[in-house]
Amino acid sequence: MRLRNCLYHFAPYGFHATWHHLATTHHIPGRIESNPSSLVRALDELETARALMLPRAVAFAAQRRLQKREGRRVPAALHPWDSWGCHDIAYCPDPQKHPAEPLPVVVDRVLGACAAGTDRAGRCLVCGREDWDLWRVCQNCGVASGGRGAHH
Ligand SMILES: [Zn+2]
Repeated sequence: MRLRNCLYHFAPYGFHATWHHLATTHHIPGRIESNPSSLVRALDELETARALMLPRAVAFAAQRRLQKREGRRVPAALHPWDSWGCHDIAYCPDPQKHPAEPLPVVVDRVLGACAAGTDRAGRCLVCGREDWDLWRVCQNCGVASGGRGAHH
């Protein structure tokens, strides 16, 4: 199934949570044949989110190549998902607990917060909850912005 293949390459909440989000939002039935258009809508949402983060992934890769050519040690990425093409950009360790908003809205907000450099201000990048830090899972929206690596 095409949607599942896409999720292996780009799943903002991680594979399981993103699938759960798309399946519940677009009412994807257990038997896809009974509602194939739900899958098309889900794929649309995923593609829209992916289009938002592509420029950033490309810019990051270019920056890394430049640093290598100049012989500079590449500094550890502030956001681990940068090196994964923004896969898991808003990783949710619990597949049932993830933001309710559309993926493009969430992805856009995280990218915006990072670009503005506000991501260490003690607020959740996704829902804005305070008393939060980069490496913890947000108690409100379920996102662990430190990425998958921080929780293994
Ligand atoms: Zn949150």
